[in-house]
Amino acid sequence: MKASPEAQKRLLDLAERDAALDRLRHRRRTLPELAGIEEQSKKLAQVSTQIIAAETEAADLARDQGKAESDVDAVRLRAERDRKRLDSGQVSSPKDLASLQSEITSLHRRQGDLEEVVLEIMERREAADTKVADLRAERDELTATLSVAEARRDEAFAEIDKEAGEVRDRRGVLAAEIPADLFKLYEKLRESSGVGAAMLQGGRCQGCRTTLSIADLNQIRAAAPDEVVRCEECRRILVRTPESGL
Ligand SMILES: [Zn+2]
Repeated sequence: MKASPEAQKRLLDLAERDAALDRLRHRRRTLPELAGIEEQSKKLAQVSTQIIAAETEAADLARDQGKAESDVDAVRLRAERDRKRLDSGQVSSPKDLASLQSEITSLHRRQGDLEEVVLEIMERREAADTKVADLRAERDELTATLSVAEARRDEAFAEIDKEAGEVRDRRGVLAAEIPADLFKLYEKLRESSGVGAAMLQGGRCQGCRTTLSIADLNQIRAAAPDEVVRCEECRRILVRTPESGL
């Protein structure tokens, strides 16, 4: 392939832009904020699951408390009814009176036991409610931290994308000045190895860092300036400059 030395040199400018774009892509992928965001998101998902479990526990306990309280009410009403019957004087048989009295005593005992159950549930419910509140506070804090980190990431993304856009524009202008067949070869090489063209500097290919053999250097030396030469090692386009050591 043949191309003017000027066109060949433009490949080096193009390669520089492509390297800059690669660096920007790398920076975008490895932003320090990203690791933090991933970690915080995982934690947030964990806390959200914990909140659901804690809320379910609190709701179960609230239902248990309601049930225990209605048990207390039922026993209390029955004792009150018995007390009224006793006080009404309608029951006169000593045997019935004794049985009523004994039932009232046992109902009071039962009421006391049930009230203790209510108290115990209330204590557990209070602990469950506290847990829900603590977890919600933790979730809010994580959400706030996360949104700060996301804002910082988006800011960095915007900055990188703006810079990449500018580099891409300059690259487009350069590419338009390079003959189509040379540009096509450059693009093909770039796709397969990441770098399409490299400078021959001091007898060394700057693409693969190989020092060329005397024979290869002699061959390049003998090649016409508009001959497109390639590195024997990495097959990249080798661009000759005054620094090439030829
Ligand atoms: Zn090479």
